[in-house]
Amino acid sequence: MNLNQFKVPANKKIKLENFPTEFNGAIKDKSEGKELLEENVKKLAELQDRLYAYDKYALLLIFQAMDAAGKDGAIKHVMSGLNPQGTQVYSFKQPSQEEMDHDYLWRFYKALPERGRIGIFNRSYYEDVLVVRVHNLLRFRKLPQKLVNNNIWDQRFKQINNFEKYLFENGIITIKFFLNVSKEEQKKRFIKRIDDESKNWKFSEADIKERNYWDDYQKSYEDALNNTSTKYAPWYVIPADKKWFARLAISNIVVKTLEDLKLKYPELNEDQKSKLKDYKELLMNEK
Ligand code: AMP
Ligand code: MG
Repeated sequence: MNLNQFKVPANKKIKLENFPTEFNGAIKDKSEGKELLEENVKKLAELQDRLYAYDKYALLLIFQAMDAAGKDGAIKHVMSGLNPQGTQVYSFKQPSQEEMDHDYLWRFYKALPERGRIGIFNRSYYEDVLVVRVHNLLRFRKLPQKLVNNNIWDQRFKQINNFEKYLFENGIITIKFFLNVSKEEQKKRFIKRIDDESKNWKFSEADIKERNYWDDYQKSYEDALNNTSTKYAPWYVIPADKKWFARLAISNIVVKTLEDLKLKYPELNEDQKSKLKDYKELLMNEK
């Protein structure tokens, strides 16, 4: 699978409407897609083990999307084979009073993965240039009035870029996924959530309200993607109308990113190896 077709180039402007929501690639059907995902899940487990043993890099996966695009399912399926000890998942909602007493990156900074771990952000500081922008929520934030100006979104893009560059230069690799679902498919999924009682809990009135802002969100997403896809923290726009395809594409990207790190298990020097032999002998001769 050519993963570059989903990548937002660092120095070119994209139009979101040119990215497909519906896509199969060269994959025959859902069952082939699922098989390939299973293989990736196994590869990921092995790569995660190396990441953990090497204990120097961390991987941060950011998931953003419109409602019902499949973030939760993608996280569940792609990460299903991972060792829970090496994984840290955070879902971000509206900020609390305590969180609003700080700058907007604070709560995310605290949640960054430790070295050797894979961290997952289900929503992220990108909400601070998305929902906050669409609904003009800055007026409810404690930012000094004088600092809220027409450049605020560009300023935030720069702040985010600086932050992610800083992370990269400190061994924390960030990759960002925008699950690109169509308005039509969202409607189908909402209706399914209403029809299927076991899915009712997933539906909320807010979902309908947010849907009315679809175009504003697309515009804000496009602006965010164009300004924050960098070589050290790229954005991928994942076709999300087929859940199985989105999961497969995401898993391919995560596998490739980890493989590119060429992680090795730590090796012992001769002295340490010979000590291990001594320890083994001690254990074997125990009475
Ligand atoms: P969900 O992911 O469906 O549980 O919903 C979480 C909600 O929190 C979404 O409606 C987000 O838009 C909202 N949210 C996340 N981050 C922020 C933020 N910084 N400011 C305002 N709302 C946010
Ligand atoms: Mg929701």
